[in-house]
Amino acid sequence: KSKAKMTVDDKGSTTFKDVAGLDEEKEEVSELVDFLKNPRKYTEIGAKIPKGILLVGPPGTGKTLLAKAVAGEAQVPFFSISGSDFVEMFVGVGASRVRDLFEQAKKNSPAIVFIDEIDAVGRKRGAGLGGGHDEREQTLNQLLVEMDGFGVNEGGIIIAATNRADILDPALLRPGRFDRQVVVGRPDVKGREAILKVHAKGKPLNEDIDLKVVARTTPGFTGADLANLMNEAALLTARHNKRAIDMEEVQKAFIKIAVGTEKKSHVVT
Ligand code: ATP
Repeated sequence: KSKAKMTVDDKGSTTFKDVAGLDEEKEEVSELVDFLKNPRKYTEIGAKIPKGILLVGPPGTGKTLLAKAVAGEAQVPFFSISGSDFVEMFVGVGASRVRDLFEQAKKNSPAIVFIDEIDAVGRKRGAGLGGGHDEREQTLNQLLVEMDGFGVNEGGIIIAATNRADILDPALLRPGRFDRQVVVGRPDVKGREAILKVHAKGKPLNEDIDLKVVARTTPGFTGADLANLMNEAALLTARHNKRAIDMEEVQKAFIKIAVGTEKKSHVVT
């Protein structure tokens, strides 16, 4: 039997301070931390704690990071899998991976279950031409069954991520499932500066670098692009045998990444 490709994160290694520029988004998910820490406070007054929350936004904007930070803040384990790992050629494998995932989470409850790219498994059913979708439908059905038997008191909270909420099967979005959405957008100039600061930590910067200026010249960059920018600049600096990153390396890294993001956006039409 094939096992789910799960990764489990160390408790508490990622927290909200690692997530920059997403203040509103952090505010919205911070209630999950409280649910996980004090479920009885809510259930005792008859409140139903949400089971699932959907993070919606383009790739690289920090959805995985945010989900990990919720687990870190609540000091609970983080079980993560990608929706594409559920999609298998062999009938029954996807469904058994879903079962595995939730079994593990329940054993270690309370926990966060994170499903990246949920659209890979959660697309609207019956949308394709002809048959051939049995396997994916079975997997999706299993996911719905597991969600219904899950909750803060049974195991934890499920966080899923997608950049296409519009193609998800409506069954996933019904009350008691992923009935809450948090939009994780591309950072604005302030957000970009905050993200750059996080990724400049531990990297000596020359005086000629003003992260405000770098933030202003990187519109459209995601958090992942900005992390990449700082790392490329550091790599170039080391290769040039310099001790601090200066503007020359940042500019070279910028060109490399800007060309990359341009290529990507041409492919995605
Ligand atoms: P995908 O949908 O492609 O999985 P994602 O939205 O889940 O993308 P992450 O995997 O969380 O994006 O981001 C990738 C990396 O980019 C993070 O590990 C982090 O280093 C950096 N990053 C992204 N967003 C932020 C942010 N808001 N603050 C700090 N770092 C960020």
